Amino acid sequence: MVRFTVLASGSKGNSTVVSGGCTRILVDAGLSCRELFRRMRLAGEEPETLDAIVITHEHSDHVGGLAVTARKLGIPVYFTEGTHRAWMRWLTPRRQMTYAQWLEQCRKQAAERQAEADASQFDAEGEPDESDLVADCEPAAPALAQIVAAESLPEAAEPEPGPATPIPQKDPTWLPAVEYFQAGQPFEIGDIAISPFTIPHDAADPVGFVFRTEGVRIAFATDLGYIPPNVKAQLKGVDLLLLESNHDLEMLRDGPYPWSVKQRVLSRVGHLSNEAAAAFLEDEYDGQAAYVILAHLSQSNNLPELARVTAERALNGRASLLANRLLLAAQHEALPPIYF
Ligand SMILES: [Zn+2]
Ligand SMILES: [Zn+2]
Repeated sequence: MVRFTVLASGSKGNSTVVSGGCTRILVDAGLSCRELFRRMRLAGEEPETLDAIVITHEHSDHVGGLAVTARKLGIPVYFTEGTHRAWMRWLTPRRQMTYAQWLEQCRKQAAERQAEADASQFDAEGEPDESDLVADCEPAAPALAQIVAAESLPEAAEPEPGPATPIPQKDPTWLPAVEYFQAGQPFEIGDIAISPFTIPHDAADPVGFVFRTEGVRIAFATDLGYIPPNVKAQLKGVDLLLLESNHDLEMLRDGPYPWSVKQRVLSRVGHLSNEAAAAFLEDEYDGQAAYVILAHLSQSNNLPELARVTAERALNGRASLLANRLLLAAQHEALPPIYF
């Protein structure tokens, strides 16, 4: 049985469970781990049975609870490489250091190592010196590596817990396992086939998804400034369409956001308006889906009824589309699960 449960949708957190066959996937982890688990249990989903987390992009409303959730469940996280790197950069604030400060830090670290070395000579008289000598000989190298790591992302970015990362829990970017995928290249997790596609949004490498399992196709497209041809192609022939309906244009224009934020939301890499979603539903959507879910509604610049009416009007214009059940994903509570 295929099951689709939107746990949360909106600028304060996004997360959805897709289940099919023996596989359960969490799409985005934008709520705290505790809240995710609470909502999953309320919706009849067992968090412990999740097989993987798949991430659309690195904005905090999609990854806020990611590290804790993945670690707690011990499951892999699927990203594009660009999204993974951007996420790590977000968690590892840049450290600005002048050359003089860096030298001073090197000196301090060398002194600390020397102090440790002196102490250990007293502790273990038999073989005190070799490791200490090595440490004394190259005090600057690790410090330099730290600076490079903080300034630009390290090459060996993929976290592989092992001898090289002795205390992974202290690394905020540490995950049990990381898998990379690329937009345009379908892959599978257990019984679910996933086609990631590029979406126009102001993130490093954002994607939408089409999930296919047990003959059911589910399309997932939020956080996009407009619907380009490659996305339109992905939204055809699906049984469930989850589409962004972020803001009402008038409410956004007259609303509380500063001008620069309004421009960002309205831009080609911002968010999809009710009007743009409706234009797609009226003119280009093929009407195949049993369910259309409007998602990522803004709390400041939209009203659920406004989004619903705008989409309904667009769908009703098409007499053959009586099967399309229109639902609204919410921020503060999960939608009841949808079964196929
Ligand atoms: Zn978002
Ligand atoms: Zn976003």
